[in-house]
Amino acid sequence: MLDNAIIEKFRSIVGQDNVLTSKVSLVTYGYDATADLPKGNPDIIVMPTSAEQVQSIVNLARRSGIAIYPRGAGTNLSGGTIPVEHGIVLSLQKMNKIIEVDAENLTAVVQPGVIIQELNNAAAPHGLMYPPDPGTVTTATMGGSVAENSGGLRGLKYGVTKHYVMGMEVVLANGDRVRFGGKTVKNVTAYDFSNLFVGSEGTLGIIVEITCKLLPSPKYRRAMLATYSTVAEAGNTVAAIIKAQVIPATLEIMDNMTIRTVEDFAHVGLPVDAEALLLIEVDGMAEEVVVREAEAVVKCVAANNGELRVANSDAERDKLWAARRAALPALASLNNTVVLEDATVPRSHAGDGNLHPTILADKHNADEMARVHLAVDEIFEAALRFGGTLSGEHGIGLAKMKYLGNEIGDTGLDLMRTMKNALDPTHMLNPGKLVPFPKQEVAHATR
Ligand SMILES: Cc1cc2nc3c(=O)[nH]c(=O)nc-3n(C[C@H](O)[C@H](O)[C@H](O)COP(=O)(O)OP(=O)(O)OC[C@H]3O[C@@H](n4cnc5c(N)ncnc54)[C@H](O)[C@@H]3O)c2cc1C
Repeated sequence: MLDNAIIEKFRSIVGQDNVLTSKVSLVTYGYDATADLPKGNPDIIVMPTSAEQVQSIVNLARRSGIAIYPRGAGTNLSGGTIPVEHGIVLSLQKMNKIIEVDAENLTAVVQPGVIIQELNNAAAPHGLMYPPDPGTVTTATMGGSVAENSGGLRGLKYGVTKHYVMGMEVVLANGDRVRFGGKTVKNVTAYDFSNLFVGSEGTLGIIVEITCKLLPSPKYRRAMLATYSTVAEAGNTVAAIIKAQVIPATLEIMDNMTIRTVEDFAHVGLPVDAEALLLIEVDGMAEEVVVREAEAVVKCVAANNGELRVANSDAERDKLWAARRAALPALASLNNTVVLEDATVPRSHAGDGNLHPTILADKHNADEMARVHLAVDEIFEAALRFGGTLSGEHGIGLAKMKYLGNEIGDTGLDLMRTMKNALDPTHMLNPGKLVPFPKQEVAHATR
C-alpha cells in the first residue's frame, strides 16, 4: 500500500482526475486480456498526459522504490501488463495525440496512447496507411503495439510493427528522455536503439512518442473465401500459393469448429458445413497485377478441391474480415478459459507461419488445466523443432518466460539480463516480465 503523502505527490504531477485509487479501478487494472494467469494488485493507476509528466512519475517512483507497469489498452495476450508486485499501473491512454501525418515523407508522429485505427483514419485522406493491424486494431494503442511488436492480419505481405517504427522518444528508468532514429529512410547512426525498444514489453523504458512509416494504400484488392472438405486441402492450398510466389496481404485458415463458432457469434454467412476455409486477399497498386495474382490463387484453390467465393463489394469484404476478427471473442464464449497461443513456424507451413492453437478449458478444473499446460509445452516444443519461435506476435510477458531459454539458450538469456540491468538496474520497469531472473538476483536488485 502506498501512503497518502506519495499518492498526493502523484496527484500533484498529473492532476486529481488522472489518479485512480478506488477498489474498482485497482481490480480493473489488475489484469489484461490474457487467460489463465493470476490477477495483480496495483496500488494506484496514474494517467499522464505529457512526456514531462512521465519523467516526473518515473523519478518519484524510483526515489520511492515503487514498480511501474506501463499499460496501453491492456489487450495483450501474454500477461504483459499484469502488476505482479504492488506498484503503479502507468496508463498511457491519455497521451493520445496524432502529432503529425507527413504525407511528403510518408511518416507519422504519434503519442503512445493513439489507437492504431485512428492513425489509419488520419492517414487515409492522404492515400496512406499504417499496415500493422492486430485483431484489436480498433482498441489497441500504438505504444502497446510497438512495445509488443504486434503483427496482424496483413503480416504475410506487409510484415509486423518493427518494420514500420523509424524512431521514438523514450523515458528511461533514470528519468532521462532520449530520442532514437527519425524520419530518414536511411539511418545507420549508432546502435539501432529503436529496434531494441520495439518488443521490449515495457521492461526497458516508457515509449512517449513514436515516428512510424506509412505506405501508399493499395488501390486494388480482391478478397476471396475458399471452402474445403478437409483441413489438409486447405493447408496444401496455402503452401501452393506461397510456392506460386504470390504473397497475399491476408491468408488465414479456420477449421470447422472455429467456422461454426464464429458463425453462431457473428452471423456473417460462413459455410458451417465446410471442414476448413481460407480467407485470402490480394492487393496492389496495379489492377492487372492484382488480377493476375487472384487468378493464380483461383488455380491453387481448384487444384486442391476448394470452392471459391469472391467478395463482390466492400461490404462483403468487410464481413469476411469481421469473421476473422471475431474468432477469438467467439471461441472465448464457449468456455470460461481460452488459452490462445501464437507459436510460429516458417511460412512454407502456413501463410505467415503464425499459428493460433486455441485451447478451451475451465480454469476451476485443476486436472483439466494440468493437461492444458502439458499441451502448451508440446506445442512450443513442436514449433521450435520446425525451426519456429515461441511467439509470432503476442510476446513473452509473464506467460512464456519459462520457455524462453529453450529458444535463445543460456547465452541469449544472459545477454537479455545484461541489457535489462544496464537500462533498468533496480528492475522498476515491468518487473517479472519477459526477462527471467534467478530469484536471488531479483531479490538483490533493490529499488
Ligand atoms: C481479440 C484479440 C485479438 C488480438 N489479435 C492480435 C493480432 O492479430 N496480432 C497481434 O500481434 N496481437 C493481437 N492481440 C494482442 C494485442 O491486441 C496486441 O499485443 C496489442 O498491440 C497490444 O496493444 P495494447 O495497447 O493493448 O497494449 P497493452 O496490452 O496495454 O501492453 C502491451 C505491452 O506493452 C507495454 N506497454 C504499453 N504501452 C507502453 C509504452 N508506452 N511504453 C512502454 N511499454 C508499453 C506493456 O507493459 C505490455 O508489456 C489480440 C488480442 C485480443 C484480445
